[in-house]
Amino acid sequence: MADIKNLTKDALKDIKLIIFDVDGVLVQRGTRISQRGSITTLETKHIAPKQIEQIKKLKEKRFLININSGRGLYMLQEMFREVLDFVSLTYENGSATWNQGKIEQHFNSFLYLKDIQDELCYVKHKNIKGFEPKELIITIHCKDRVSQIEKISQKYEELYCLWNGEAYDIGVKNLQTKGLGVNNVTKFFNLKKRNVLAIGDNYNDKELLEQAGIAVSADKERLKGDYYIPLDGPRLPADILIEQILKVIK
Ligand SMILES: [Mg+2]
Repeated sequence: MADIKNLTKDALKDIKLIIFDVDGVLVQRGTRISQRGSITTLETKHIAPKQIEQIKKLKEKRFLININSGRGLYMLQEMFREVLDFVSLTYENGSATWNQGKIEQHFNSFLYLKDIQDELCYVKHKNIKGFEPKELIITIHCKDRVSQIEKISQKYEELYCLWNGEAYDIGVKNLQTKGLGVNNVTKFFNLKKRNVLAIGDNYNDKELLEQAGIAVSADKERLKGDYYIPLDGPRLPADILIEQILKVIK
């Protein structure tokens, strides 16, 4: 892996689509959530004005922009409201994509997840903060790992249960991943893998980076890529990446 400072204009010559993970890339990691009975409180994070301006500049340079996140659509729409005119939103680990108000579902997880969903509802543990509202995957925020959740998940061989340090993401192995979203979006825009640059920071970004011509890791301990962004200081990985792209393509 090379430091992102080594990304050149020549390396970018085929890139037409830039795909961003959200948490840990465009906003800091961490979700504030609590659940009491049937009342869920969930913080909406906001993209900083600087990143909105950077996304607009990439658009001016004729890059297509896609957001590929584990979050739900309602949340992404709120976060990216100012740039929805030219940003497509792929949500819940590649399950579906919103583009110009139209939704295309890439994967139907209903039959895979309905039984485990029922079981997980009954798990009580002091570490569990809450279920993030989602339609197509299951995300359970926890203060620390919960062995009961992991034990239940292990019974379902076709499912993944990824612990990322703040939550479990549960979905269908190999099929319901961010990579599925990348493939669909790439095809939609009549592009090839070599036309795509993607950046992610976590275990659920493995398939996201695998499907991109240029893979950028925002956490080289968790994820392999062609380039990495050093995790130091308060700057967001997207900030550093976009700055580098805009600098070299001038
Ligand atoms: Mg992330």
